[in-house]
Order: sequence, then C-alpha cells, then structure tokens
Amino acid sequence: MNNKEFRQYAHQMVDWMADYFEQIEDYPVKAQVQPKEIYNQLPAQAPIQGEEMSVIFKDFQDIILPGITHWQHPNFFAYFPANTSFPSILGEMLTATLGAQCMIWDTSPAAAELEERVMNWLRDLMGIPSSFEGVIQDTASTATLTAILSARERATNFESNQKGIAQNNFRVYCSTETHSSIEKAVKIAGLGKNNLVKIPVDEQLRMQATALEKAIQEDLKNGYRPMCIVAAIGTTGTTAIDPLKAIASISQKYNIWLHVDAAYAGSALILPEFQWMIEGIEQVDSFVFNPHKWLLTNFDCSVYFIKDKESLLKTFEVLPEYLKTASRGVVNDYRDWGVPLGRRFRALKLWFVIRNYGVEGLQKHLRAHISLAQTLTEWVKSSPDFELLAPTTLNLVCFRYHPKNIEDEKTLNTVNKNILEELNKTGRMYLTHTKINQQYTLRLVLGQTFVEAHHVQSAWEQIQEIARKAPQLERF
Ligand SMILES: *Cc1c(COP(=O)(O)O)cnc(C)c1O
Repeated sequence: MNNKEFRQYAHQMVDWMADYFEQIEDYPVKAQVQPKEIYNQLPAQAPIQGEEMSVIFKDFQDIILPGITHWQHPNFFAYFPANTSFPSILGEMLTATLGAQCMIWDTSPAAAELEERVMNWLRDLMGIPSSFEGVIQDTASTATLTAILSARERATNFESNQKGIAQNNFRVYCSTETHSSIEKAVKIAGLGKNNLVKIPVDEQLRMQATALEKAIQEDLKNGYRPMCIVAAIGTTGTTAIDPLKAIASISQKYNIWLHVDAAYAGSALILPEFQWMIEGIEQVDSFVFNPHKWLLTNFDCSVYFIKDKESLLKTFEVLPEYLKTASRGVVNDYRDWGVPLGRRFRALKLWFVIRNYGVEGLQKHLRAHISLAQTLTEWVKSSPDFELLAPTTLNLVCFRYHPKNIEDEKTLNTVNKNILEELNKTGRMYLTHTKINQQYTLRLVLGQTFVEAHHVQSAWEQIQEIARKAPQLERF
C-alpha cells in the first residue's frame, strides 16, 4: 500500500466507522455465533502474496463482524462497560499513526509530559491529594500487581528484588467480594494464594473493618507479617464501597500498605457528591481506576496513583547502559513506573476526551447514567414480582424476578438464569449475572456511552415480558 492508497482506504474506513455508529442498533448486542464458527472460515495458512485492502476489508465485514459483541451498542448492559467515544477514537488513530514507543522521556518527550500533566489534572479533579503522582498502565490488573510488588519491596526494606523472599510469611487482605486480579497479583508476586486473607463483608457487601483488624491481630500472633490491604471502591459484583476511612486507620496503625481498587467506580470521583467514597484517601499508598471503563476512553487506559513515588521507582527501576540518558532524574521515565519497558502513547486519547467533553461534559455524562440507574431501581422496587438484591450506589442495578408463587431459592435461581439466557438470545440487549448470598442476580449496568432513557424503558419492558414467560419455559 502506498500513501495514496492509504489515504483512500482511511477515508473509506472512517466513513464506515461513522456508519457503524449510526447503524449500531441493527446489530445483535451479543455475537450470535457458535464456537469455532469464525475460526473455520479463516484460511489455514497465511497468504504468501499480499492481498488487496478491499478484499481484506470485505472479509472484516463478512467474517469478523458477525463474531463481534457490540460493546458500543446502547443496550450493552453487561459486565462493566468498555466505553469508547468520538474524541477517544480520533486520539487512538493519531497514536497508531505516530507509532511512538514511549518508554522514556527521550523516546517521546511530549508523550511523557502530556501524561504527567493529564495525570495531575485527573488527580486534582478526583479529590486525590497533590502528594500523589499518576501513571497510565494497561489495566487495573497490572496496576494492582505493581502495588503489591512495591508493597513487598517496602516490607523487605527493598531487598526482596535483590535476594528473593527468604522466608515468606507475608499476608495480603481483601474482602470476599474483591476482584480476581488481587488473587492473580498475589500469585505472581510469589506470596502464595494461601496468604491472601479474604475478610467477610457486611449486609451491603462491604468489607468489615473490625473483622479486618481481628484477622491482622490473629496473623501477628501466629508469626505472619501483614503486608498489604486492598480496599475496593466499587466491587465488581455490586459496586459495594469498602469503608476506606476505617480501613485506612487500621493500615496506619499496623503500618501496612493500603491499595485502593476503584477500577470501575473511580470515574465517579469527578463528581463532588461521590467524594465520600474516598474519605481517608490521605492515608492510602496507591490507587487505581480505569478510564477505559466508564470515562469514555477506549480500552486500554488504566490510571495508577502512588503516594510515595520512590518506593515505586525503587521497585521497578532498571538501568542498562543503552537506556542511560542526560535527562534522567529531571523528567519522568515511565518505564520505571511499572512492569513493561515499551509503552503506548495512551495519554493522547485521554487528553482528547477530557478536552472535548470538558469537566462539565464528563460530569453531565456520568450523572445521566446514575440517574437512569435510579429510575430503573424505582421500577424494580415498585414491581410486585421483581426485587432489588443490592443497593444501587452508582449505575449498576442488581435484581431478580421473584413472583409471589415461587419461594424455593433453587427454583428462583433457575428461573432467573433462564431469563438471562432468553434475553441475551434475542440479541436486543446483553446482561450478565452475579451471585449475592447464593442468589442468582441479574446485573444491569447503565454506563454505555450512547445509552438513553428510551433504551432503558424498552429494556425494562422486554425484561418483564420475558420474565413473566420464564416459569413456563420448556427447560424449566
Ligand atoms: C474491571 C475490574 C478490574 C480489572 O480491570 P482490568 O483493567 O481489566 O484489569 C479490577 N477490579 C475491579 C473492581 C474491576 O471492576
């Protein structure tokens, strides 16, 4: 392909992109394909000769697109969203065009300095103290691993990288509702899954601070070394908010690293009315949230804030001869702020998003979602045969169908599982589930970039319609 052809295809594809968003509601939200259906349509060998772009693009439309689940469909209510937005896409296009590898300041000074500035913007917007500094990571999982490795280094007086862990008696604490990425990080960090202590939650699925302190005291008595606590601000199951202030004072008292996983709910901190979620933040050591979930910035873009930058750098710094530069120490070399050496220019799309929406635009957007969730919550509550299973803190509604004539929990679980499958089969919406106290729970997240009131209205109508047929479904 030469530049002339590039220009031609680029224009054609941008037109396709705009058409896609115009027609997105014509696609089934969840891909309606069987396993291997796509794989078997693809040739067994790579092409020996180059192919025409027009042929490739046609295959994209005919083969790939039917196997895509449309995360940007306004009726995507599943998991947590992975939002994109127009300014984000444009930023991503430029990032791909520049193709810059932003490992150190020298390899792209503007990327490093834009990242520094945008991180400070976000930090200040979110009510995080100015003693913190931020860095973009690929995912919250990586950021949490980064936190646990830094905690391990600090707890060993920065010797474990050098000598390995001589005697592993470290303990990490999180609630029973915490995301699986904590467990993964503990395993990778060589601490052992058995040393991840899961603290019970209260009736609103928040970590019980008193149970946390008891577990720490018990561990100290038995010769363990409490090393890190992970508090969840917005659990994946129900967006429960752990009591940060109480947890922070325990971490302070026992000198334990405190990491906050706010992967999803962190975005809401740009709203003053949600600042209560991080009361106690001054005592936190590290914090992660994902603009790639709810803050209109396409995957991947995860923001990691750290209070003591030195403990991060001392954990990750490597300095081979070929990476020594004159600017070292004066500027941020982000390769020392996490696991990978090479880094994408992710700050660009985030900058585009923040500037194009403006703070007010972003706030308005999040508040609209929160308000839609309130509306749906009211509908669920006032419906005689549905029930709410968790408080709606932000924009996730947890509920189930529970008609008066069914009381058996096992039956209710089966009925609700059937409802979910039937709903997703229609292709008109996509929901996922969780279990709350053994109860099969439908989760409906109102966070998609393009979701509006009428989508929620018609989704609720379809849910009721299918639910009321569910007890008669054949499989039941
Ligand atoms: C989504 C999520 C994660 C994982 O995020 P990745 O960026 O995909 O690693 C971690 N914690 C919570 C609370 C989440 O909601």
